[in-house]
Order: sequence, then structure tokens, then C-alpha cells
Amino acid sequence: MGKKTQKKNSKGRLDKYYYLAKEKGYRARSSFKIIQINEKYGHFLEKSKVVIDLCAAPGSWCQVASNLCPVNSLIIGVDIVPMKSMPNVITFQSDITTEDCRSKLRGYMKTWKADTVLHDGAPNVGLSWAQDAFTQSHLTLQALKLAVENLVVGGTFVTKIFRSKDYNKLIWVFQQLFEKVEATKPPASRNVSAEIFVVCKTFKAPKKLDPRLLDPREVFEELPDGPQNMEAKVFNPEKKVRKRGGYEEGDYLLYHETGILDFMRTEDPITMLGEYNKFIVDEEDHDWKIVKKLKQTTKEFLACIEDLKVLGRKDFKMILKWRKAARELLGLDEDEDKSEINETPLTEEEQIEKELNGLQEKQRLSVKREKRKKNEMKQKEIVRMQLNMINPVDIGIEAAELGRESIFNLKTAEKTGILDKLAKGKRRMIFDQSELAMDNDIHIDENAPLEDRDEHAEADELESQLDAMYSNYKERKSERDANFRAKQARESGEADNWDGFNEKPSDDENEEETKDYVDDDDDTDVSDSDDDEAINQLIAKLKSRETSSKLSSKARALFSDSLFEGVEADLPGKTDSGNSESVGDVRKLVKKRRLNPAPEEQDSESESSDDDSDFEIVPTNENDDVDSEYDSDEEAKRTKQEKHSKDIDIATVEAMTLAHQLALGHKTKHDLIEEGFNRYSFRDVESLPEWFVEEEKHHSKINKPITKEAAMAIKDKLKALNARPIKKVAEAKARKKHRAVARLEKLKKKAGLINDDGDKSEKDKSEEIAKLMRKVTKKAKQKPKVTVVVASGKNRGLSGRPKGVKGKYKMVDGVMKNEQRALRRIAKKHHKK
Ligand code: SAM
Repeated sequence: MGKKTQKKNSKGRLDKYYYLAKEKGYRARSSFKIIQINEKYGHFLEKSKVVIDLCAAPGSWCQVASNLCPVNSLIIGVDIVPMKSMPNVITFQSDITTEDCRSKLRGYMKTWKADTVLHDGAPNVGLSWAQDAFTQSHLTLQALKLAVENLVVGGTFVTKIFRSKDYNKLIWVFQQLFEKVEATKPPASRNVSAEIFVVCKTFKAPKKLDPRLLDPREVFEELPDGPQNMEAKVFNPEKKVRKRGGYEEGDYLLYHETGILDFMRTEDPITMLGEYNKFIVDEEDHDWKIVKKLKQTTKEFLACIEDLKVLGRKDFKMILKWRKAARELLGLDEDEDKSEINETPLTEEEQIEKELNGLQEKQRLSVKREKRKKNEMKQKEIVRMQLNMINPVDIGIEAAELGRESIFNLKTAEKTGILDKLAKGKRRMIFDQSELAMDNDIHIDENAPLEDRDEHAEADELESQLDAMYSNYKERKSERDANFRAKQARESGEADNWDGFNEKPSDDENEEETKDYVDDDDDTDVSDSDDDEAINQLIAKLKSRETSSKLSSKARALFSDSLFEGVEADLPGKTDSGNSESVGDVRKLVKKRRLNPAPEEQDSESESSDDDSDFEIVPTNENDDVDSEYDSDEEAKRTKQEKHSKDIDIATVEAMTLAHQLALGHKTKHDLIEEGFNRYSFRDVESLPEWFVEEEKHHSKINKPITKEAAMAIKDKLKALNARPIKKVAEAKARKKHRAVARLEKLKKKAGLINDDGDKSEKDKSEEIAKLMRKVTKKAKQKPKVTVVVASGKNRGLSGRPKGVKGKYKMVDGVMKNEQRALRRIAKKHHKK
């Protein structure tokens, strides 16, 4: 066992894909090959309803297909060895090169056609490499044959091939049958393996197929090999290319030499350099005697031509230079020049076309280079991001597209003077009003070539865009942190001392209410999400006003970020003209609400505190069993609104104002921190009596001004909230419905049992069923009416039925709720101490 593991390890088999496959439950690591191929080539598996996997054992490709293909897809796996069955996949054992496999496949396919045929076959023989490769190529051709028979027009065929001399022939055959043929080596395929995968897309499904195309004898014997790439051999000699094809026809030597003068005279020096091992010098040759005197005929040159196979790129260049000089000396190139001169001169049109072509080619190359640079840069950024080195907002990928030099070019920054500011750490200076105004004047034409742009303007614009994006990200982050810190502060009592980030009143009562509300609604982060929504609305509003050029260039840069894409403006018209309610109105409204609670609230309070009344009978609602807390949707909505209006008060309007200012760039995180340090920040409250601190709490903080926009946003928020259905009511209704359905099912079951009873007459059966139904409907209709009696006045301490109360009743303590609240508050205070 140990030996086996060692062997596996030594071959590097237990790599990350091995462990990944184990973790994901795939039967083989090769599953990742098809996953990667599928991802690279447009997720064809997700679009395939019928997939055939040839040579499928142990079945990991089938597993992948079953995971990725649409539900109820037909997946068929076949292999020469038996395969463990798996859900949603048909598997059978057969040799794919036989007629048996063909007919079985036809049997499963019926009239269907496959969208994708996969083939990962590898011969199960351990013969010589050449033999293995040959069998593999034959297997691939067989797989192609089955694919051609079963594929739908436009279908995909993925196959494994080995890099062998048959490779080009197979590719040629694929190209005859598919629109697009591409070879790929997925990362999961080991580099040491000679396997490559060919993805053939868009099956042409020719009506008439030349049988020779799929005949191994024709394919592998008739097609000639392509010419060898000698240039690669010469210019990249370090890259050794294995000669997989072995010896060439009629040439059984590995060693070749020729005269140096032949090399000098040849028209194809590159091929010669690639083919020969040595160039011989004939000292008696007349021409050699001449070229020997060349300064290029050095000792080094002579040593190099002794063994061409060990030379490097530089050496080959030197030999080619020598050849050029030698030809010039012997006047061989003059003939070429003369022949060129004798050529008919180009017409004017041809000349223009030639020039145009040259220019176009140049442009194409430069665009390509630019694109490659950009891609490289993006790739690098993404890798850095994956390593958690940076955050996408920091990268500013979009900004990078404008030209990387301009963003991080310190020289440009130095010229513009920004570098000094940056060096001093005063990045905020970029947001100064004067500069903002300047920014507004700067116009960068995105379509103009980069060089044409004003360098200063470009640096400013990009710098500020980057900063805006960065500060946006920071502020969003600090907002979240602030929420968290404020919560912590409230809990630890810190909020009393420092209200820098405290967005909500630290009033215990209010906090209690808020908590109750959140608990009641079963919604974990109601206020947070609502705030987000409101901020989004505000942002949308600001976005919509962008055209009226009220926004600064910073704000414009901020909103042009993809982060704000899809934010819809769903707001009322302009407040200054159309809407009569101003900030003041909203302020007044909120204050009024705080001072004078809603009439219902007042009523209930006065009633509950009224000890003089004898007792009070509170009839319970019909729907009591559904949700006793909410009598009806209306009441529930009202309760929710009341609770929420307590939750969202001036502090939220302040928070909205802050958000507004942050979005417009009028304030930054630093401002917030600075504002946090005020005369109340470190107030010494230790020596003060508790009641005094309690009373002073509302006044010992800075009242931040609020804006019209923020007030309107809050108003809209309230509107949206009121329009929302109550979750609890919906849940209760669903529960009720569920119970009714369960009752009906039970009834049906019982009725069925009665009906199946052969001993009973039909009459008895129908009577029994009718009785059952009556019982059930009666049960559903008749709900015990419970009368709630408040144990106050003369009912206080009463044991037994109170006077005048009929049926079921329940004694409740009127002050119980308040007492419980007070107890909770006291417990909390003790806990803090
Ligand atoms: N794709 C499979 C997976 O991920 O589980 C792995 C395939 S494995 C590399 C190659 C398979 O080809 C072997 O299971 C072998 O039995 C099968 N094979 C080889 N020759 C075959 C033939 N003539 N007919 C059917 N299957 C064959």
C-alpha cells in the first residue's frame, strides 16, 4: 500500500486536482479537465440535453455532465470496462470500436441526437509509446465515427488526442466536419502527459460523407506530413522539439553535413541551419579563399559551424550575418537586386494600396500590442485581488483602461504638483473646492488618442476619479463599521460619551422599542437594509440630477462607477417646486410624533393606567388562533408604522444627510472623525448622579443639521415601508392555510378507510362520512371564545370566575408588560456595571 502511494506521489499524481476531486466526490481527477474545457468553450454542457461519453470509466466526466446539463438530460456513458452506476446516467459496457457498441448506443438514443459527444479514451495497453499513440489515434477516429452518427447539426465533439505524427491528420479530418476546431490543454492535464484535447464545435452534419474521411487506412497513410518549422528550430534552439515522427522516408541518418559555401549560396539558409549538424570548409575552394578574409570569419564562427546542434540563437545570428557579408563580397546579392530592378514598376494605385496595407498592418499590430498590455495588466490585478492583496475598487480596473501610465505615472504627477501633495499625505487637497471648479473645466475627450490629451488635465482627472472611488469604498466600509461600532458603543454605554458615529438615539426606551420591533418582525437587519434602500434612492436622485450639472466632477466620477449601475430613480419630482413639504415640515412632524404619540397609543396608555375602573372585558378576535398579536392587517400595519416611526426619527434623517454629504463629496471620513471629537466627547460623567446623566443625555450631543433631500428620502422610505405587506401576517395566513389543508387530507384519508370497509353498507358509510365532515367543519368554525379579564380594581386578587363573564376567560395583569420591561432594563443596567 505504502509502496503504491509512494509511486503515485513520485509521479506527482496526488496533486491538487486529486484532492479536489476527492473533496467534491468526483470519481477521477480528470473531471476537472472537462470542467475547464467546458468553461473555456462557452459552457456547452449547460446547453446540452443529450450527452454521450465514450470511454467513460470510472465516470467522472459523466458526473460532471450530470451536474451541469439541464435537468432531465439524457447522459449515456460507455466503456470497455464495467462502470459503477450513477444517478441520472445510463451506463453500459462495450468496446467503442465494435458494432455492438454502435447498435446499443442507437438503442438508447432512439430518435434523439446528441448535443455533445465526449471522448477521453486511452488504450488500456502498455505497449511502446509509438504503438500506444497509434492505437489512441485509431480510437479517436472511432469516437469521431460514433460522434458523426449521433451528433445533432451544430453539436460539439470533445476528444483527447496524443501529440504524435497523426495529430495533424486528425485535426484535418475534424476540420472537414466541424466549423471550429481548437486544440487545448486544460490546466488539470499534466504537462508531462502527451495528451491534448481537441474541441470541435458546430458540427456541419454533411449530407454526403466521404467514407475515406473516417477510414484509418486513408487518414493515417495518405495525408502528407506538414513541413517542419525550421525557423522555430533556429530562432528558438533552446526549445527542444522532440521528433515524434521518427526517421524520414529514405533518410535513416541522424547526422548530416554539407559545405559552408553551399550554405552561403542556398536560398533557404534557415532550413539548412535547422537540418544540418556541421558545415565543412574546403580550404582549396576559390570562393572560400576570398570569404575567409572577411572580418566575420572569426575563430568563433569556425568553431560554431563545427557543431550546429549545440548552437544558441546568438550563434545562428552570427552565422547568418557571415553569410550576408560573404554574399555581398562575392556579389551574389547584386544579381538579386538586378532582378528586382528588372521587375515591372508598381502603378500608382498599387503603390498606394501597398502603403495602405503597410499602415493598416502597423496599426493592427499596435492595437494588438496595446490590447495585450491591457490584458496582462488586468490579469495581474485579478491575480493580486485573488491573493487578497487589493480590492476591486482600489484597482480601478475601469480607470486602468484609460492607460496605465497616466494613473501611476509619478513623473506626470510631479509635473502637475500633485506628487508633493501626495507625498505630504494630503490627499484630501484634491477635493478642494477651487480644484473642483478647475476639474469641472477640464474636459477629456475619451475618443481622442491618449497622446493628444492634456497631460495635466488627465492626471488630475484620473487621480480624482481614483480618489473618489477609493473614498467611496472607504466610506461605505466605515459606514458599516460605524453601525457596528455604534451598536457596540450603545451596548457598552460608550455612546453616552462619544457620539461620533452614533446614528440612533441611545434612549433606552427607544432602543427597547426598536429591539421589540426587530424581534417581532423576525427580520434580522431591517433598519440596515432600509437604510441601504434609502441611500440607493438618494443616490438615484443625485444621479438623475447630474444632467442639471449640480454635481461636482468628483460626484460625477463617483456615480459613473459601475457600483451604481442599475440604481433606479424612484423618487417624487423636484421638492423645491412641486412638493410643499419641506425639511422643516418633516422635522416638525417627527418632533410632534415624539412629543405627542398617536391617539391610539395615548388611549391605550391611559386605559391601562386607569386603576379606578372596576374591570375591563376585552373580547378576543375571531382570528385569535391565527395571530393573536395582530387582529387584522390594518392594525398590524398601523402597529408597524408606529413602531417604525419611533425607530426612524431625527437621527435617521441626520444619517441620511450625512450620506448625502458624503455622496456629494462635501464630507469625507476624516470630517466625520473630526466631528466626533467635540466638547461632549470625553465628558466626565463618573461623579454625576445617574438621574442627571439620564436627563442630560438628550442635550449633551451636537445637533447636526439636516437637509431637504435627506428628509424627503426618509419620507419615501416610510412610504415604501407602509406599502410592504407584514411578514408576520403573511406567515400566519400561510400557517392557517397549511392547517386547513392538513385537516382536509386527514379527512380524505379517514373517508377513504370508511369507504374501503367491505363490512359496512353504503348507507352506513355515507352516514359515517357525513358525521366526520360535520365534526371537522364544526371544529373549524367553533373556536373557543376566550374573554380576557384584566385583574385590576375589584378583580384584583380574585380567585374564580369574575362576575358577568360567560364562557372561557383569561385573567391578565394590566401592568405585567410594563413591569417586565422595567425588569429587563434594570437587569441590563446591572449587567453593564
Ligand atoms: N473520462 C473518464 C473519467 O473521467 O472518468 C476517464 C477515461 S480513462 C482516461 C480512459 C478510458 O478509456 C478507460 O476507462 C478505458 O477503459 C477506456 N477505453 C479504452 N479503450 C476503449 C475502447 N476500445 N472502448 C471503450 N472504452 C475504452
